[in-house]
Amino acid sequence: MPGEFEIIRRYFANASGDHPQVQLGIGDDCALTTLPPDTQLALSIDTLVEGVHFLPDIAPADLAWRLLGSAVSDLAAMGASPAWITLALTLKDSDSEWLEQFSKGLSEACHQYGVSLIGGDTTSGSINVLSAQVHGFVETGKGLKRSGAQPGDLIFVSGSLGDSRAGLATLTGELAANEYLLTRYLRPTPRVELGVALRDIASAAIDISDGLLADLGHILKQSQVAAEIECSQLPISEVLAQSVSQPCADHWALTGGEDFELCFTVPSEKSASVVELAKVLSLNLTEIGCIVAGEGIQLTDKGVVKALPETFGFDHFQKQGNP
Ligand code: ADP
Ligand code: MG
Repeated sequence: MPGEFEIIRRYFANASGDHPQVQLGIGDDCALTTLPPDTQLALSIDTLVEGVHFLPDIAPADLAWRLLGSAVSDLAAMGASPAWITLALTLKDSDSEWLEQFSKGLSEACHQYGVSLIGGDTTSGSINVLSAQVHGFVETGKGLKRSGAQPGDLIFVSGSLGDSRAGLATLTGELAANEYLLTRYLRPTPRVELGVALRDIASAAIDISDGLLADLGHILKQSQVAAEIECSQLPISEVLAQSVSQPCADHWALTGGEDFELCFTVPSEKSASVVELAKVLSLNLTEIGCIVAGEGIQLTDKGVVKALPETFGFDHFQKQGNP
């Protein structure tokens, strides 16, 4: 089994990529980078814990894609372009085959999202824990915050919701195996191009990691507004609609989490730009409701008020929602 420095040399040192702003990558005490002019650095860290965020037998390449996907999704939600990542790994053991597959998946995912791996930390521990810190660029002052939603704004979500929760269900035996749902769970697609394009259109944005209601709730709190959501407008994929009952599909779309789609608000006069953007990106952007004055969320189903689910999404310290 390779030791700490051999792991870094063999599996990570050559994955560093060639981002033009990276002057010194893996191998010294720190990486050194520069920033393009008129740019702010957007920073975020995401952790995946074995048994909490992933099942112990997940394929290592899928784990790498999920880690990168969830981290890069935060950049997308900020309207930032991905630049580089650092990676903190706590591993139960240094299984060469596992590391080989993990680092291969990581290199592919880094290439896909245009990020360079520029540093990290490698430690041993009793369970596998992986953290990726992503750094991205956003034009100064243009970052998409959670705090800008205004009464009258329309609420949109990208792609479809609930698929990732259903993908997990295929692994836990709640649902029959399904390639599409499983891929949505294992290899989520962060909506980077959408985030960048929304910089001049959206008033607020967030990525859906914990569940639509939970994440929209953060926009509402930070913007000090309320929302009305129409359930019949929720974008549910055909596969999900065919796999579960409609109440279950709605429930997973509202609370499922880990779809890594974007939820964003747009002043009504800019709604035509969203329609245009959906065409340009070939991505469904669905209006699901609107922002109103007040606090909280009102759900309707074909106009009839509907009770809110008991839990809005995953909370690590209340242990509700996904496992
Ligand atoms: P230090 O002890 O000074 O923090 P380390 O010996 O932990 O440095 O790491 C040596 C170099 O390898 C550093 O440049 C660090 O960023 C990099 N590194 C360590 N682990 C990883 C990893 N899992 N992925 C990428 N780079 C790593
Ligand atoms: Mg050092």
